[in-house]
Formats: sequence, C-alpha cells, structure tokens
Amino acid sequence: MTATLDDLPIRDDLRGQRPYGAPQAPLPIALNVNENTHVISEDVADDIAGSIAKTISELNRYPDREFTDLREAFASYLGHGLTPEQIWAGNGSNEVLQQVLQAFAGPGRRVFGFSPTYSMYPLLTRGVGAEWVAGSRGPRYEITPEDAAEQVRAADADVVILCAPNNPTGTPLPIEVVESVYEAARGIVVVDEAYFEFAPSEAPSALTLLPGRERLIVSRTMSKAFAFAGARVGYLAADAAVTDALRLVRLPYHLSALTQAAAVAALRHSDEMLRTVDDIVVQRDRISATLEALGYDPYPSWSNFVMFGGVEDPQETWRRLYDRGVLIRDVGVAGHLRVSAGTESETTAFLDALAAVGDA
Ligand code: PMP
Repeated sequence: MTATLDDLPIRDDLRGQRPYGAPQAPLPIALNVNENTHVISEDVADDIAGSIAKTISELNRYPDREFTDLREAFASYLGHGLTPEQIWAGNGSNEVLQQVLQAFAGPGRRVFGFSPTYSMYPLLTRGVGAEWVAGSRGPRYEITPEDAAEQVRAADADVVILCAPNNPTGTPLPIEVVESVYEAARGIVVVDEAYFEFAPSEAPSALTLLPGRERLIVSRTMSKAFAFAGARVGYLAADAAVTDALRLVRLPYHLSALTQAAAVAALRHSDEMLRTVDDIVVQRDRISATLEALGYDPYPSWSNFVMFGGVEDPQETWRRLYDRGVLIRDVGVAGHLRVSAGTESETTAFLDALAAVGDA
C-alpha cells in the first residue's frame, strides 16, 4: 500500500495545497508556458558548448560562490549605471524570488500582489510560511497609481510583488504605479520584469527607479527573451544591501559552474540571443488581431503571450486544441485562455486549429 500526502507529517499550512502544474505534454505545438520557441543559433550554441567544456576539468571544485563573472555580465547587459554589487542571480527567477521571500517574508509576514497574476507568487509565499494577500485589478485588469497605493497601504505587507507586464493577462504596468506603490509600501517592492524585453522599446524599466530606493528590487530572467529556459538563469538588480540579505538565505554555491559558464557565454552574444524578440512581437500582435477577427476578446499584451476572453468553455476548447496537437494554457480565469507567441509556423498552426475547433 502506498501512502498519500495526508499520511505524512507535512506542515499544516501545506495541507491541501496544489503544486505548480502546467502540463508538460510532448505535443508538436507547445505554446503553454511562455517559452521562446526559437532554438539558439548554431554559432552561439558552439561558443556556449566550448565555455561549458572548459569548466569540466574544474568540476572537482566548488564553483565561484559569488558568480563574479556572471554578475559583471548582467550589470553590463542591463546598463543604467548598475554595478556588479547590485546584481544577484539564481536558478531561474523563481529561485531568485524564493530567496527574496526567504529573506524578507517568512512566518508571520505578508506578501501582496494584484490578482490574477503569476501563479507561483502565492506558492512561493506559502512555501516560506508567509501569507499571500491578493489585491484586485480594475477593468481590463489594469491598475491605476491611486488604487494601487490605496490597496498596498491597506494590505500593509512585508513584500509587494508587481508583475510588469503581468502574467497571465499581458497587461502593461505603468511606471507611475511602481512609484506610487513604493511610496505606499513599508516593505520590499519587487517588480518582476520577466517579459520586459517584449515591451515597446520606449517603455521605461523599473531599473530607472532604483537610485535612492533601497527597498526596490527588479527581477528578470533569461528564460523568455533569451530563449534560455532550460539553463535556469534568473537575476535581479537592487541596492547592494539587498544582495547582502540574499547571501543569508541562499545555499552555498547555488549556481553551478556549468550554469555560470553557459550564462556568461550566452551574454557575450546577447544581441544574437535576443534576435528573435522582434519576430515574437510580430507573431503576438498577429495572434491578437486574428483572435479579434475570430470574435474573441484578446487583452493588450506587452509580453510574448496573449490572454483572450470570449471562450464559452475554456476546458473544452483547450481539449480540442490538445487533440489537434496544440498545447495552450487554461489559466483558471473564467471564460479565458492564454497562448504564447511561437514561430510564424507554430502561430499559424494554433490560429488555424482554433478557427477549426471553433468556440466550445
Ligand atoms: N515571473 C514570471 C512573471 C513568469 O511568468 C515566470 C515564468 N513563467 C517566471 C517569473 C519564472 O521564470 P524562470 O524561473 O524560468 O526565470
């Protein structure tokens, strides 16, 4: 007889929780987890492979605990006058966010975000024993500086997480909202810019707000625009004191020598790695226009995905697409589905399949 979770002496606050569960099905068209579906070019792949190969003779030793080269590379990629002391990195921005919550949230503390938002925020919050407090959004999932400040003041949270642009809705977050939330919050304010590279080039990053704001953290990832999800590399920029706090909770040597070598090599080719962003933006906008023509209600998106309403039975539409080899995401928002922008042919396959299955 096998045991179930209920048979284990698991923490009371984890009982009844569900793990992150985006299906990983081997379908030909997988547009469900906002990956960059373009593969890395051969030249860059060769250089990355060469850099990884060089570390193999040193794998008997622990890696550089301070990932010095990688922090330098991120500081110069981000610009904005950032120094390596202001950079931190982890195995995906999920880990970086987890470390932030370990340091600044924890038992007896509260974490606040505007719902619906990235599904991992509540999970990471509960994982560190803190309480997740969900705020609300206005029409079309937008947030105004005034409403945001009022909700943040009322929540009195230890950490506020803003997702810019927001997952799963794609909604842009005006920089004025970040400014007013920072003023209203007593604790840490994290701006998760996982999809920032897909925003219009004139859109200001929260990185511009860092000087003089020691409670502000801007997180990014190589998983999306950089097409590097499998390498698991996320990072943040903040006051150098924040990285000192993260040193208290990270595991020693958390970034393997292989990961550091791969990421530093990839960043040497950042222009080439980001080459596919423009094409993805074209496909994203094509998805929105076509969905509208099909009678759906796509939301404005500054990311590499589109959420759309007007779906009678999301589970059934999702299933019919699945049966045609197209995997998208039921994000749990009633009447809505979300799709990532793929290559031109993947995007065509999705749009054709949706037109064929119709609305369920
Ligand atoms: N933030 C947001 C808003 C995301 O959508 C994701 C991935 N889906 C992440 C963070 C985490 O990405 P990773 O751990 O791959 O960096």
